[in-house]
Amino acid sequence: MSNIINIRVTTEKCSGCGLCIKSCPFNCIALVDGVAFIQESCRLCGACVSVCEREAIVSESKNEKTGTIKYSGILIFVEQRKNVIAPVVFELIDKGRELADRLGEKLECVILGKDVKQQAEELFHYRVDRIHVYDSPFLEEFRDDPYSELLVCLIQEIKPSIFLLGATSEGRSIAPRIATRLRTGLTADCTGLETDSEGNLLQTRPAFGGNIMATIECRNTRPQIATVRYKVMKKAERVSAYKGELVCRDFDEKSIRNRTWVKKVAEAQGKGEASLTEANIIVSGGKGLGNPEGFKLVKELADVLGGAVGASRITVDEGWIPYPHQVGLSGRTVRPKLYIACGISGSVQHLAGMQTSDIVVAINKDPSAPIFRIADYGIVGDLYEVIPEIIKLVRELKEQK
Ligand SMILES: Cc1cc2nc3c(=O)[nH]c(=O)nc-3n(C[C@H](O)[C@H](O)[C@H](O)COP(=O)(O)OP(=O)(O)OC[C@H]3O[C@@H](n4cnc5c(N)ncnc54)[C@H](O)[C@@H]3O)c2cc1C
Repeated sequence: MSNIINIRVTTEKCSGCGLCIKSCPFNCIALVDGVAFIQESCRLCGACVSVCEREAIVSESKNEKTGTIKYSGILIFVEQRKNVIAPVVFELIDKGRELADRLGEKLECVILGKDVKQQAEELFHYRVDRIHVYDSPFLEEFRDDPYSELLVCLIQEIKPSIFLLGATSEGRSIAPRIATRLRTGLTADCTGLETDSEGNLLQTRPAFGGNIMATIECRNTRPQIATVRYKVMKKAERVSAYKGELVCRDFDEKSIRNRTWVKKVAEAQGKGEASLTEANIIVSGGKGLGNPEGFKLVKELADVLGGAVGASRITVDEGWIPYPHQVGLSGRTVRPKLYIACGISGSVQHLAGMQTSDIVVAINKDPSAPIFRIADYGIVGDLYEVIPEIIKLVRELKEQK
């Protein structure tokens, strides 16, 4: 029996000659965009590896002793836009550092973009051991093809055992491409990461509509890839000095597959999403508001407290407020210092997006509403009576100062 556990194509080396296609006894190879593509049905016989004259097809075999190839270290994708590092990266670094220390392995980061060396160097202050930099005008705007291709090449070379990305639009877009190319597993949207006694990554995420938390393992392939929700983990602290290694990486842009170009980047209208995830205070409205006008009162309280407006999914589905305000499993995850839930029952799906808030205040007229189980302070009453009282009190307190 073959010891092969994986076969991959290094696309930059592939000339599209088709020798591998002829050699495959199971018809599992096709040419896609002039490059050999090994399909899911591959039986790992290895026939294509030996015929490839350019050594573009490589196989990975089980190590006789350990049963696996040596994968080591944790790699983090450093997402940036206009040379500002996405905040989720600092949360990934904190968790990555913790796991790397526990496993006795290195913490590495990779950043792609234009003029990003300075940003890369800043990451040494967050105790990163090695940072790989792909710096080129070609990478100025995020595009799936070149970004995922370069990351696949890097992972094939340095073989990290864990690869982490933020569960952002970019992370969610490239992680499945990378996992498919590497023929490994991906757990999307994780809310918790730990390791077991054998060093396998335990990836926790809500499942079945948030009714259970599933812990997922990827035991048979490497790297273990996970995207992680923003605001579910704590941010790494900046230290004054830490010695790491910066690796500037060259690449030939002509050999990188690229099917799209970005013509224009337009900022999304409405600030709901951005201000919500960053806000220290959030006042959220639910079905208990009774009608869309109720959000005026919620906004008034948010404004007087200097906070942002959140919402439950029902209110978004009803069209009372736009989606970027939605908090919960299928909305934003938030972690403010103060979260005030007004007329929200406290479904598991809503709690999934806000229960790590520092202080939760619930206003609900039903004393048995589940939100009270996780609330630090509960006010049983009609929100149309309670909220105006709070607004009045806050204004009075402000005037006294
Ligand atoms: C796959 C899936 C994903 C989901 N994702 C999300 C998500 O991301 N976010 C989310 O929020 N939901 C989500 N949901 C929906 C979720 O299950 C609930 O339906 C929703 O959270 C309920 O919203 P609510 O609390 O506003 O409404 P309700 O459950 O109807 O609660 C309204 C509350 O208001 C109280 N109330 C009524 N009148 C007043 C008043 N005058 N004063 C004070 N209190 C009053 C009532 O006592 C009640 O507790 C999801 C569901 C599924 C299946």
